[in-house]
Amino acid sequence: MDKKIVYMDYAATTYVKEEVLKEMMPYFTEHYGNPSSAYSISRETKKAIDIARTKVSKAINSDSSEVYFTAGGAEADNWAIKGIAFAHANKGRHIITTKIEHHGLLHACEWLEKNGFEVTYLDVNEEGLVDVDKLKAAIKDDTILVSIMFANNEIGTIQPIKEIGEICKEKKIIFHTDAVQAIGHIPVDVKEMNIDLLSLAAHKIYGPKGVGALYIRKGIKIDNLIHGGGQERARRAGTENVPGIVGLGKAIEIAIENMEEESKRLTVLREKLINGILETIPYTRLNGPKGDKRLPGNVNVCFRFIEGEGILLSLDYEGICGSSGSACTSGALDPSHVLLSIGLDHETSHGSLRLSLGETNTEEEVNYVLEKLPPIIERLRNMSPLWYDFKKRGEK
Ligand SMILES: *Cc1c(COP(=O)(O)O)cnc(C)c1O
Repeated sequence: MDKKIVYMDYAATTYVKEEVLKEMMPYFTEHYGNPSSAYSISRETKKAIDIARTKVSKAINSDSSEVYFTAGGAEADNWAIKGIAFAHANKGRHIITTKIEHHGLLHACEWLEKNGFEVTYLDVNEEGLVDVDKLKAAIKDDTILVSIMFANNEIGTIQPIKEIGEICKEKKIIFHTDAVQAIGHIPVDVKEMNIDLLSLAAHKIYGPKGVGALYIRKGIKIDNLIHGGGQERARRAGTENVPGIVGLGKAIEIAIENMEEESKRLTVLREKLINGILETIPYTRLNGPKGDKRLPGNVNVCFRFIEGEGILLSLDYEGICGSSGSACTSGALDPSHVLLSIGLDHETSHGSLRLSLGETNTEEEVNYVLEKLPPIIERLRNMSPLWYDFKKRGEK
């Protein structure tokens, strides 16, 4: 008999929805024409890209001419950061971001530092929130870009993006946000929030991997990241990933349609899971904010005295898929930069577990996790020298 799988790692990636796949399929086979070619069979693929572009633009309230397709979220982040830095280097070389960005953004910033730019990494508070006064104070005459993620992939913190957008507009500084975790889960509106550039990806919203988009507000000067042919109005070279782009369009359309209802449903499950864990397992803390400053499907907790890796293996044995830190960093022994930034010590941050909920998860599955998790934690603690020392010292 097949083992039941309880997938709770939707922030790492999702499967491709049936309807999305169905929409993509003809673009692998029948409609294969290169969108840049002149013959009539290419018109079909060119049209499909235009339709997908309109769908993405509707989801973020931009004009469709402001949407550029990329090969995913990390590319969009890299393009935004490097493209703005080099296009505006004559005006200034200072960039402001946060300590809890995705590695796609942080490592691009570190690379820029090696190439003559200066980057300020803002601290966040114990919930992972940026202090807008600290942001204001960090702005200098030569600041050219502020990049602050919309919602955090590890601990689910939703930043005050509208407020940040207002500050940047007032100071005439370009504002980029990585909205990969936000899009399709919470409302995103580039006009209302004064966002100049925004990254998104398909594979976190039931679309295919390896495709995403960068929104670039009309009139923003930006250098190319990928040089070559004239695709994407000469801003992003390379023959278009037509099936992927069609998939992104369909996925984002469905995600927006379902957003209100699904985020309510996930919030209920999230609360049940968080409360259930905190009530039944001692020496456990919730990472990230409570309530509506948290992504609907995000649960992140630390169990003291044990290692995340052990928890993941034991959960996997029960058919439960979760993650420790984020997918990109687990496997490495370094503790999560996000957990360290919200003030956790190395030891505690090693015992973290992220469960990120999505479409297939039910109350029954939440109950299953709540049944399996406490004995796993107890067993691991009983094998832990840290737990042994702690008990011997008399539970202080
Ligand atoms: C997943 C993710 C990315 C990277 O997107 P890819 O499409 O995997 O390159 C960037 N930022 C955040 C916040 C993410 O969650």
